[in-house]
Amino acid sequence: MLCFDCVIIGSGVAGMTAALYLKRANVNFTLIEKHAPGGQINMTSKIENYPGIETIAGVDLALNMFNQISNLGVDYHYGNVLEIKIDGNKKIIKTDMEEIETKTIIIATGRKARELGLENERQLVGRGISWCATCDGSLYKDKDVAVVGGGNSALEEALYLSNICNKVYIIHRRNELRGDQILQDKIKVTNNIELLYNSVVDTLNEKDGKLDSIIINGNAIKKLNISGVFINIGHEPNIEFVKNVGIDLDEKNNIIVDKEMKTNIDGIYACGDIISKDLYQVVTATSEGAKAAFSVQREIFNK
Ligand code: NAP
Repeated sequence: MLCFDCVIIGSGVAGMTAALYLKRANVNFTLIEKHAPGGQINMTSKIENYPGIETIAGVDLALNMFNQISNLGVDYHYGNVLEIKIDGNKKIIKTDMEEIETKTIIIATGRKARELGLENERQLVGRGISWCATCDGSLYKDKDVAVVGGGNSALEEALYLSNICNKVYIIHRRNELRGDQILQDKIKVTNNIELLYNSVVDTLNEKDGKLDSIIINGNAIKKLNISGVFINIGHEPNIEFVKNVGIDLDEKNNIIVDKEMKTNIDGIYACGDIISKDLYQVVTATSEGAKAAFSVQREIFNK
């Protein structure tokens, strides 16, 4: 069985930063990922609040980080982590590909996008339903679309789509937006964005296997003839594989850590969007990745 001093699970910005710091500290570790490196930032059109970089596409920042750790020779394993088993001081990570033994673990698996929970939502993925304007926006060129949600993600997606689509509705369940004022100000001066407050999507109507229109329930029931719905209603943590380990979680299933990024289980650390915190940003995720790596190297080298 492969054996390491540390395994980082997840190669989003937190996991890749932890990898950068562990490699520079000469820790024997590997990084496990089931998709492409980058995680959520791959779905972010522009990042404009990361210090030192005025503006960058999410995928480009992800690629820069991946190249940086690859050039250092970071060991990388593809695989979906199914389970963690604790055997005394050893931890066994079971993926769909192999089993790996390690002394310590950094969990950096982030979050996944929430679904609306409508009957035919899953069937219409790629045929009218999307969670990523950067990935799918061009399919809706000159068409009318809607973005659901009122947070930063929804506002950024709506602004991105307003450059491609004919009209963009923002459908929000409350009477005020949650996203940053700077984004709200941009939305207000964008002519082809219309805000629909106090509204929820009730029905997705399809025709010939594609989304054709939606019914929204708000101040009045209304039909919108649109081709695409971009769902941006928040995220939930990817923690399925830790359920049997006894890690303390908060009421939203985020992992509770101390200021050194330690969980309640010895040798298990967590960082990035998977942890319980107030601010979910690239800049906080990278900082927590560095802190988790620093704590691990202190544990491994006993300093
Ligand atoms: P979010 O801030 O949690 O916003 C989710 C939005 O979806 C809220 O407006 C919420 O409504 C709505 N919502 C939740 N469940 C819903 C449901 N079942 N039906 C309809 N609407 C629902 O999520 P986010 O926008 O993905 O952002 C996540 C975090 O990343 C935030 O901390 C955000 O600041 C950060 N982020 C930052 C940037 C940036 O700084 N540039 C960019 C993207 C994300 P209510 O308001 O009524 O709860």
